Amino acid sequence: MKKNDLVEVTIESMGSAGEGIGKMDGYPLFVKDTFPGDKARVSLTKVKKTYAFARLVELLEPSPDREEPRCVQHRRCGGCQIQGLSYEKQLLYKEEKVREDLKRLGGFTDPPVGPVLGMDEPYRYRNKAQFPFGKDKEGRIVTGFYAGRTHSIVPETDCALGIRENQTILKMILDFLNEHHIEPYDENTGKGLLRHVLIRKGFATGEIMVSLVINGRKFPQIEKLADRLFMIPGMTSLTLNVNQKNTNVILGDEIIPVRGQTYITDKIGDISYRISPLSFYQVNPVQTEKLYRTALEYAGLSGQETVWELYCGIGTISLFLARSAKKVYGVEIVPQAVEDAKHNAELNGISNVEFYLGKAEEVLPEKYEKEGIHADVIVIDPPRKGCDSACLETMLAMAPERIVYVSCDPATFARDLKLLCADGSYELTKVQPVDMFPQTAGVETVCLLSKLNAKQHIEINLDMDELDLTDAEKKATYQEIKDYVLEHSGLKVSSLYIAQEKQKCGII
Ligand code: SAH
Repeated sequence: MKKNDLVEVTIESMGSAGEGIGKMDGYPLFVKDTFPGDKARVSLTKVKKTYAFARLVELLEPSPDREEPRCVQHRRCGGCQIQGLSYEKQLLYKEEKVREDLKRLGGFTDPPVGPVLGMDEPYRYRNKAQFPFGKDKEGRIVTGFYAGRTHSIVPETDCALGIRENQTILKMILDFLNEHHIEPYDENTGKGLLRHVLIRKGFATGEIMVSLVINGRKFPQIEKLADRLFMIPGMTSLTLNVNQKNTNVILGDEIIPVRGQTYITDKIGDISYRISPLSFYQVNPVQTEKLYRTALEYAGLSGQETVWELYCGIGTISLFLARSAKKVYGVEIVPQAVEDAKHNAELNGISNVEFYLGKAEEVLPEKYEKEGIHADVIVIDPPRKGCDSACLETMLAMAPERIVYVSCDPATFARDLKLLCADGSYELTKVQPVDMFPQTAGVETVCLLSKLNAKQHIEINLDMDELDLTDAEKKATYQEIKDYVLEHSGLKVSSLYIAQEKQKCGII
């Protein structure tokens, strides 16, 4: 087989990026825009020894699980990898993805993964969008989205996941650029002014923020543009964001106020949050509430606990927990986010929280070693790359009763949980995926790790070093021992944990 060959394939499963996987004589083909049950003619795009990538050319027999996508551009954009799949199947796919990663990368035999919490209306859920500006081949100024894996702009502003106001705002800005001969930024020459437009809306408050990301510090006639934008109901904040670097990173560090506040306010549950352009804020507020409520439930607070929340952003989860805890400490790396977090505590009259600026992997070990801080519960919500091992080790040393881990990447989540459960002092008790990103392959997960009660568990150590056994064989041996003990001891056993590194297992 070679590049550009046309072949027919039946899709059997889905990969972690939402692509379809079919086999030809046992040789896997990864095909974007296809789903299990599809029979398709595909063209090979990259041929490797043990697998190949291919592009969908013709759908010969569509899968019964397909649904008409709402967005005509979904294939070119690539942001919604699974929009063509029925929502019900999307949720099953995500549940399976979390379970498989926990098994394969986390080493959990039968992880307790619940069904994904989905949305009633899985479109127009995003409260934030960042649109690039540039020119088309004819030299006209355009905005829209980057065609998948390129920087060529497809002029489509009505994203099916975004708010309706996006279109109005972008049209006003486009017209303004044309009228005033303001150039969009050109990545090749480093010239031109407007790079991106960031739009954010508070779904509970209706407040809208627009930030113009510019290659400079001034925007011509900005007051006139502000007059127009502020005719849109809800417009609360117009700012400039300075980004003069030759980089793919969208936002720069500096915010220049233009009109209104430099932030918007939103509410999740009954807590209000102030959000600056540079602060992280979950993009799907409807699902965020479900996520935070689950985290709160897993934290199992009675009002007496000291809680540490790492990667706390603008304090969203911290404030959610604070009302049910004695004290909450938050740690976050972005200065504006910490400012927002402190302000948010005040805004809600919550005084039992404290926020630290810094890296979680530095602040936590330092506080633990120097001040001997204590935690009954630790909540973490790291970015995609997961948690630093220094941070995970300090968490284990602090030995909280419960660890609640919120994650947007099942693979790094599974890797970190493996480390947290390795010495057998924690058990993965509950795993709840939440669909924060319908139509895309992304899935958010929250889990509960509970400290094993030493008083009530039997530990079995086997010295298997001399034996030439694989990890899987060692695991099977422990499993057999567990079954034996169960059968002969009359003990009521609720769970078995296996600590691979220390070669022991325990029965609770
Ligand atoms: N819990 C918050 C934010 C989660 S996103 C919420 O739900 O809104 C992850 C956050 O971790 C971001 O705010 C990011 O700025 C922060 N972050 C990234 N790396 C970090 C690190 N090494 N130490 C502390 N915070 C970090």
